[in-house]
Formats: sequence, C-alpha cells, structure tokens
Amino acid sequence: MHRIKGTTQVVGIFGNPIHHTASPKLHNSLYSKLNLDFVYIPLLVDPSQIETAVLSIKATTMRGVNVTVPFKEAVIPFLDDLHPLAEQVGAVNTIINSSGRLIGYNTDVEGFCMGVFEEWSLSLNGLSCVVLGAGGAAKAICYGLLKEGIGSLSIANRSLARAESLGSSLSSFSIPIQTYDLEDSSLIEELSSADIIINATSVGLKENDCPLQSMSWVRPEQYVCDIIYEPCETQFLSLAKDKGAKIMNGIPMLAGQACLAFSYFTGKNIPYTILKKELG
Ligand code: NDP
Repeated sequence: MHRIKGTTQVVGIFGNPIHHTASPKLHNSLYSKLNLDFVYIPLLVDPSQIETAVLSIKATTMRGVNVTVPFKEAVIPFLDDLHPLAEQVGAVNTIINSSGRLIGYNTDVEGFCMGVFEEWSLSLNGLSCVVLGAGGAAKAICYGLLKEGIGSLSIANRSLARAESLGSSLSSFSIPIQTYDLEDSSLIEELSSADIIINATSVGLKENDCPLQSMSWVRPEQYVCDIIYEPCETQFLSLAKDKGAKIMNGIPMLAGQACLAFSYFTGKNIPYTILKKELG
C-alpha cells in the first residue's frame, strides 16, 4: 500500500480522457517495490485549461507529468525549454519540473527503438521500413527509425496530405521517403519488399479491424509491429503471424517510453525487462 507523506514527490499524467491509462498502476507499483517516496496520479485536464494545468506544475513542488492525447503538442508553448528530440518531433510526452523550470521531453521516440532492440535484438541500420499512419505516434516512430539509420522509409496514411506533410517534416534526414494513400494498390509492392512494417494507425483498437485490405504480401522473414496493445493481438498482427512473420505489439513501446520517463522523474534507471514484467 502506497504511503503518502509530507515529503512524497508527486508526478502524474495529463490527458483527456484519462480513465483508461495504465501508467499510475505501473509507476506506483514500481515506487512501492523500490521503496521510492513518489506517487503517480491521473489528471483529467479540460482542454481549455491546459495552460493553467501546465503552469500549476511550476507553481507547486510537482516533480513532473507524462502527457497523453490530446495535449502532446498543446503543452509546448507553456514550457521553458525543450529537449532537442522533443523540439524536432514537435511533441512532448514528459514534462520535468527542474527547480521551477519546465523541460519537455519525448520518450516515445527512444521508447519505440528500445522495444525493438529488446524484443527482436534487431539493428535498424539500413533496413527498409513502412509505417502505416501519420499521427503523433507515427511521427515519433519515424524519427526513431531515421535516427537509427534505416535505409528507406515509406509512410502510408488514410489522408495522403497528412502523410506528405509528415514526409516533408523529415526531409532533413537524407534518406528516401515515399508517401502513399493507405488504399493505393502500389503500396503492396513496398510492403512485400520491406524488412519492417509498423501499424501506427488507431485501426485495430476494435476487434477484427485491420488497416490494410490485404495481408497477402507478408513473408516469414519480415518483422511486423502494431503499437496497439489492447487488444494484445490485433487482426493485423494475427494475420501476419499466420504467415510466419515475427510480430510485436505495443507493450514494448509502452514499456520503453515508461522506462525513460521513470528515470527522468526519479533519477533512477530501471531495467526494461523489470518494467515490462510489471505491465503483465
Ligand atoms: P492520432 O490521432 O494522432 O493518429 C491516428 C492515426 O490513425 C492517423 O494516421 C489516422 O489517419 C489513422 N486512422 C484513424 N482512424 C482511421 C481509419 N478508420 N482508417 C484508417 N486510418 C485511420 O493518434 P496517435 O498517433 O497518438 O495514436 C495512434 C495509435 O497508436 C493509437 O491506437 C494509440 O493507442 C497507439 N499508441 C501506442 C503507444 C504505445 O506506447 N504502444 C503510444 C502512442 C500511441 P488520418 O490522418 O487519415 O486521420
């Protein structure tokens, strides 16, 4: 049982909605096990009050917060400083109160890569990758892949304009980037020749929904990832597994980003495997 005292350091998570979040259970359990004087609370923020919510971190002794949908971009104007990676991605998922200065970090980028290394022992260097989706999570993943030196990247999205805009924002990496409409028939060729394919759309949250009409392209040599973790095996992953591909769901990314956030909050490193075990 967590014991809150006058010395307890407070962290939390801003979001709307927030009732579904697994983060308070995860972080509080680790604080108890490691005997750390911290507490982690869910904070439902009214979107019209995001500025007040961010400034309240500074006005109090709160150590920091995680930030989830829909505030990852909205918090940025109210921060004092941004970690270079958060600045490049244009999204913040962790805010740290450093003696009254609010610093924004993005742990999704390295969290995704940590998951890939830990689960697949895979070097991304030189690989050809396809990312489905062009929202906030897809953007963080594309940055992670490009930072790790992938050989080529294709981005496919329902709204082609959003895929193109994401592609343009990544043009500083000197790597060929193609963009596709998710229903473009020529996408199949890219999918079948890719080494790693990642679903970063929200299609699959509902059982039996799949972002692609056909999965006939899957080969056993391929690595297929869906960053959705509930359900733990989406239709996309299940069909890829049937074809013999190596599959991974969204738990490793969730664990990776939480590992990094945990160390920003507490100053202590926690091994990925211990944190992932805590997620069940
Ligand atoms: P966004 O709202 O920013 O993006 C949603 C994406 O899904 C867009 O590319 C959107 O396309 C696409 N999409 C939505 N509905 C449909 C549809 N019916 N058909 C085709 N495409 C669709 O969300 P996020 O990027 O923040 O999150 C995406 C997913 O990633 C969520 O399921 C979330 O749970 C998961 N996630 C997992 C994390 C983890 O740690 N494992 C971390 C963060 C997110 P369009 O642009 O055309 O609207």
